Amino acid sequence: MAKTIQAIRGMNDCLPDQSGTWQVVEQHIRDLTKSYHYRELRTPIVESTELFKRSIGEVTDIVEKEMYTFEDRNGDSLTLRPEGTACAVRAGNQHGLLYNQQQRLWYMGPMFRHERPQKGRYRQFHQFGAEAYGFSGPDIDVEMILMGARLWKAFGIEDKVSLQINSLGSNEARAAYKDKLTSFLETIESELDEDSQRRLRSNPLRILDSKHPKTQALIADAPRLIDHLDETSEAHFSSLCKMLDYVGVNYTVNPSLVRGLDYYNYTVFEWVTDLLGAQGTICAGGRYDGLVEQLGGKASPAVGFAMGLERLVLLIEASQDQKAFEVITDVYICCMGEQAQLMALALAEEIRDSLATLRVQLHCGAGNMKKQLKKADASGAQFALILGEHEVENNRVGVKHLRDNTAQQDIDRQGLIELLSKIA
Ligand code: ATP
Ligand code: MG
Repeated sequence: MAKTIQAIRGMNDCLPDQSGTWQVVEQHIRDLTKSYHYRELRTPIVESTELFKRSIGEVTDIVEKEMYTFEDRNGDSLTLRPEGTACAVRAGNQHGLLYNQQQRLWYMGPMFRHERPQKGRYRQFHQFGAEAYGFSGPDIDVEMILMGARLWKAFGIEDKVSLQINSLGSNEARAAYKDKLTSFLETIESELDEDSQRRLRSNPLRILDSKHPKTQALIADAPRLIDHLDETSEAHFSSLCKMLDYVGVNYTVNPSLVRGLDYYNYTVFEWVTDLLGAQGTICAGGRYDGLVEQLGGKASPAVGFAMGLERLVLLIEASQDQKAFEVITDVYICCMGEQAQLMALALAEEIRDSLATLRVQLHCGAGNMKKQLKKADASGAQFALILGEHEVENNRVGVKHLRDNTAQQDIDRQGLIELLSKIA
């Protein structure tokens, strides 16, 4: 037998038993973005490598070791997008959507990172993200956070996630802090892990984000950026906190929250959970006022977040009765004989014409009535419709109630549509 071909490691199929949950999640996201009047942006999955190097930063995990980069047939260096923000800014600049304008945008789709696959961490994964351009105040930062909060409520997982916030300050405040941090880190340089030692010269702030336990312990005593904010940064952050308090969103200030991408300033935030082990960040975002200009556009303030959908689905599965997401048939049509088969085909169409929301499954491929009814029951349907010789002759339909003890009915088509409209 020929060898079967497997999917690429870390890239998952979404099987029919799982896609119901995904569709519900995606629908909630579409409803959410609509109710905040964010408009969808769809960008290509492949971009020039340069885009991510210039935005995410050369000395970041993503660019250093996680990107799927390849040369295409023209010798151009291309990369499968590892995230959506750089793509949104690229598209916004290219099509003149950003300068002197306000935009509220969202996207959803696959992202690619060459990481070690484990629960909640894959090589192809999916993000829903929102980005707003042309707004500089903390009010829109709060709006972004509220969108997350509303989504958790919609899934009944609001008790499973908590919000952490921090301020990275203005570029000036951060530059001043960087010197202080570097001086501190130099005193413990030899004890830092290898990656952090290298970053000490290139990107010391990233050391605060180190996942290395020993490094984490060492930097507990590091000077904190939040204690070195300038007046503007301080004002932005305290307004943010005040607004969050007012709208009743709970949060913790986490001074070592720096995010893994270089383009953030002022507000950064993460929604985290304890239920997914090391993959606890469900949603992460912040302000990135410098990026539009850095990528060649005219300066525009910007803020956004990205949510990992696999982690969200895992969390929903861990906390909810999956029955809510099961996609089951409503009506199963059984038929015996050639004429009944024709009638069944037409009847299924008639039901779909009248009651478009019903899931109608037609028995295809004959078989005895007992077997057909067994299939009808297993499909989860409320009703099995039966078309046999008698029904064909009299132009009627047999209705078997599969979920209660009501006796089998024999009704005409009008009566059938009336009956089915009760479950539509
Ligand atoms: P982590 O610290 O878990 O690696 P990150 O900081 O690299 O996350 P971001 O780049 O901020 O993540 O992406 C936003 C969100 O996308 C994450 O919070 C997470 O929910 C999701 N995400 C990121 N990488 C992966 C991945 N490899 N597999 C699944 N989800 C991911
Ligand atoms: Mg990562």
